[in-house]
Parts: sequence; C-alpha cells; structure tokens
Amino acid sequence: MFLFDQLIFGPIHSRRLGLSLGVNLLPIDAKICSFNCIYCECGYNTTMQESPIPTREQVHEALEAKLKEMVAEGQIPDVITYAGNGEPTLHADFEEIIDDTIALRNQYCPTAKVSVLSNSTRIHKPNVFRTLNKVDNNILKFDSAIDRTMKLIDCPVGKEINVAWFVEHLKKFNGKLIIQTMFLCGEFKGESFDNTTDEEIEAWFKALEEIRPQQVMIYSLDREAPTKTLQKVSVEELNIIADKARERGFDVSVAG
Ligand code: SF4
Repeated sequence: MFLFDQLIFGPIHSRRLGLSLGVNLLPIDAKICSFNCIYCECGYNTTMQESPIPTREQVHEALEAKLKEMVAEGQIPDVITYAGNGEPTLHADFEEIIDDTIALRNQYCPTAKVSVLSNSTRIHKPNVFRTLNKVDNNILKFDSAIDRTMKLIDCPVGKEINVAWFVEHLKKFNGKLIIQTMFLCGEFKGESFDNTTDEEIEAWFKALEEIRPQQVMIYSLDREAPTKTLQKVSVEELNIIADKARERGFDVSVAG
C-alpha cells in the first residue's frame, strides 16, 4: 500500500491541478480515517502507529520552509492540497492549520488555491464546516446515493451514518463544494456492487440536484487497492456518466 512518508509532499505536476503541493496531517506510518474505503490506496485503517500526528507548529514551519524554497526557485504552486494518510479534518487543530495555510499562501504565493480533500463525515461539526467554507476547493466525497452501496464501498467507522445524513449536511454549503465520486464495481465480503448502474446513477443525480455542487469530479481506481476483488470503470464509461451529468447542468471533470 502507498503511505505518504512526509508531512509535506511534492510538488507534483498534475494535468488537472497544475503544480500541486500536498500536506499530510496524519502520521507518516499509518492511515487514520473515519471511513475505511475498500479502494483506499493507503490501505485499511490500522491501530499500528509509531510516528505522531504533526502539530500545528510543525505544519506551519514545514509549509513555510517549503513555500520559501519553491518561491526562491521560481516554482509557484498552483494548489496546496490537504490529503494524505486519512481524513484531514480529524486533526484537532484543523481550523487553525487552515488559517495558517491561508496566511502563508497570501504571503508567499497569493495565486495558489488551498484545497481540502475530505470524506464528508465530519461536516456537521461547526468548526469543520466553518473551515471548509474558507478554502478555495472544498472537495467532498460522495460515492453513492444508495445506502447499501455507500456502506459497502466506504465502510464508515464508528457512528451510524447514511446517505440522507450526507445530503442534508452537504446542502448546507450552499453550492460552495466540489463533489468527488469514485466509480467502481466488484465484490466485497461476498456481496457484489456496482455504483454505475442506471439505478445508482439516477439516485446520484437526484442527490446532486439537492446538493447543487459547483463542480463534480469523477474517477475510478488508479493505484493498487487493499481489496483485490474490485474492478476499475473505464474512462469511456466515466465519460458517458459525465456527459449525462452535463446534460443535467453539472460541471463535471473526469480523472482517468
Ligand atoms: S476517505 Fe480517503 S483516506 Fe479515508 S479510507 Fe476513504 S479513500 Fe482512504
């Protein structure tokens, strides 16, 4: 499995995002997440953890050093992305860290966007909701609008959570969010699933119509998944789904 072995990673060149600098707010030797997605490229959640979670001060120091170095080399990042080994909003100082990041961005690279990739499980928390409203790209996971499929694919940890809960809370962003959906099919624990069926896509459209995101990003498996019984959805199929979504008025991008 692939774990980010540093607090700051990159920059990497991405066709879609440009020059992207990543920040991992989780340990560098374990994945910690409020989902346990069967496709997660970081592997399944584990309690094995030797390295600590970085402090707000460590993030500030490391990010400032990296931005200074990049700017000195004439490398201006297009985006600073919070992703990494799990769910970034689990960090106790998430809001303060994002505030620091926005200040550093304004100081060193005002054209860069600040992005957060989150799995949406903590958007009911006032501080998380407030913080995600401050970033340029608030990218929130929504893999299926059918409970059985969402639970099978995303495996929420701890609390009982369902699609209606996600829709209710995602709506509260008033469109200031980007929905990210992973399309895939396969089998897990003896149950088969496919979130590209007509029934799934219809339910997904219905939910998107309520959520009204500014953009929708769809993708399929890229790196190795911890579950070996999954199948990638082809770029052609993703494009068919994207075209149908565009017909309904959504701004869709396909990562293939
Ligand atoms: S939400 Fe992201 S980090 Fe968490 S298990 Fe799913 S893919 Fe992995």
